Amino acid sequence: MELDKMDENDWKYHGEGNKSLVVSHVQHPRVLRLLKYPAEDSENPPQTAEQAYRQIQNIVDFSSNVMSSLLGEKFIHSGEVVKLPLEFVRQLSIKVQHQRPAWRCDKVMDIYSGCALCLPNLTSPALHQPTHTPPLCIEIKPKCGFLPSPKHVSKDIKTKVCRYCMHQHYKVANGKWKRRSFYCPLDLFSGNRQRMHFAIKHLIEEPQNNFKVFKGGQCIYSSKEGSDESPDMNSLLHHLRPYFLHANNRMNSHVTCKAVLNDFIQVLVNALLSSGGGDGGVVADRQAEGRSFCEASIFNKERIRHGSRGLPNDSVLFRILQTQMLDTLDIEGLYPLYRQVEQHLQDFPKERTRLQIEGPYNEAFLEKLQKCPAEDDGSVEYAVAKVHQYRVAMTAKDCSIMVALVPSSEEEEDNESLSSQRQLRDFRPPAFSYSASILDLDPKPFDSIPRQLRLDQKIVTCYLRTGGALP
Ligand code: ATP
Ligand code: ZN
Ligand code: MG
Ligand code: MG
Repeated sequence: MELDKMDENDWKYHGEGNKSLVVSHVQHPRVLRLLKYPAEDSENPPQTAEQAYRQIQNIVDFSSNVMSSLLGEKFIHSGEVVKLPLEFVRQLSIKVQHQRPAWRCDKVMDIYSGCALCLPNLTSPALHQPTHTPPLCIEIKPKCGFLPSPKHVSKDIKTKVCRYCMHQHYKVANGKWKRRSFYCPLDLFSGNRQRMHFAIKHLIEEPQNNFKVFKGGQCIYSSKEGSDESPDMNSLLHHLRPYFLHANNRMNSHVTCKAVLNDFIQVLVNALLSSGGGDGGVVADRQAEGRSFCEASIFNKERIRHGSRGLPNDSVLFRILQTQMLDTLDIEGLYPLYRQVEQHLQDFPKERTRLQIEGPYNEAFLEKLQKCPAEDDGSVEYAVAKVHQYRVAMTAKDCSIMVALVPSSEEEEDNESLSSQRQLRDFRPPAFSYSASILDLDPKPFDSIPRQLRLDQKIVTCYLRTGGALP
């Protein structure tokens, strides 16, 4: 990419989250991720260009030095900071403005710093040779996959109903979403195929901001916040149908919508359980079986035909769950340690650097959180290590998985169809090669912790007031 010859016509709107806006290159498999800030500050950027550069460099460092070693390098693409011409950024922001969803426009794209994060475009993977059938990429934001330990929580309900399910009630009560989703992360992270299938089915039915489908790099399925309408499932099935026509040796016309959807979900479950190379051993389910079932999930336990084997230990879900579980104390148990660190920093401001509160996110930072003493010895080092662990877990609870499904080329299929296997088994799953990546690995700010505690209290209070009553 020649940074001095940037042309806004080579880039198009790709998507956005709460903190950044993403544009993709029209030819090369690359995206630029730009910062956003509140619209009321649009005349008055909240930080200088140097600070913006530092912030993005921190994201790269956090991803490549910390999250990558916890989640597994093979899943992570950290990218690099780039400095763009301001005129290009300004034109780009004008160009994409009308494509942005209205409900995201409470924030504006940063046009002052000229800094962005350049990443590979994970929705247009170049696995194997390019085929004429474009790849399907599925983005899942799985959220937290375990229940906190009863030791640290003040409300019993937190050990029974997962955070995501409680948060759903809060969001519906506050009008953020019209309907609650029946997706439960504990089903997705269970490693049990039936529960995972169930979870993904509900993600598709009510995607909110947890599920998107891209075809050939274009988003073809997502939901609109605050909207009454459900996303168009028929349109999704229309896109998916050609990928699953050969499945199960059905005649084209006999492939029902239900069968297409089932095949699609099954391929996704396979991709999520695949170990992506490596030995792929299976580890026991979360030690306490009681902590892996959510009472709010509408999955009927009695339906389980096969016991849970747990997640393969180098699957993408396993690595994310392990990292989430670095939150061992829950926000309630962590908060006093946060206060201890805060007090220490007030007394000794220079300690901020040594304790790496705002980075740098290097190997020393990783070591601080990995070499945390087992017991609270009262030291500030212990408190800092737990705070660092909590922040890393927060990032893992907020990241997305991008699963890329690349249809095998026709030739490969022909060779395969010669094999006697096809005659032996009536069922032949559609041939895809798959890969998984993890995206959105920003460090969560130290001072966001008090906000986390307040939000937790609001969610639990709201659930106890309205929760059990709602369907
Ligand atoms: P959140 O609100 O979830 O924290 P965010 O503001 O941190 O989001 P991202 O999740 O990183 O932003 O990016 C927003 C969206 O852009 C993603 O949900 C995804 O659809 C798309 N996206 C981000 N990075 C890439 C990438 N490398 N390749 C393809 N698409 C991407
Ligand atoms: Zn749940
Ligand atoms: Mg995101
Ligand atoms: Mg994010």
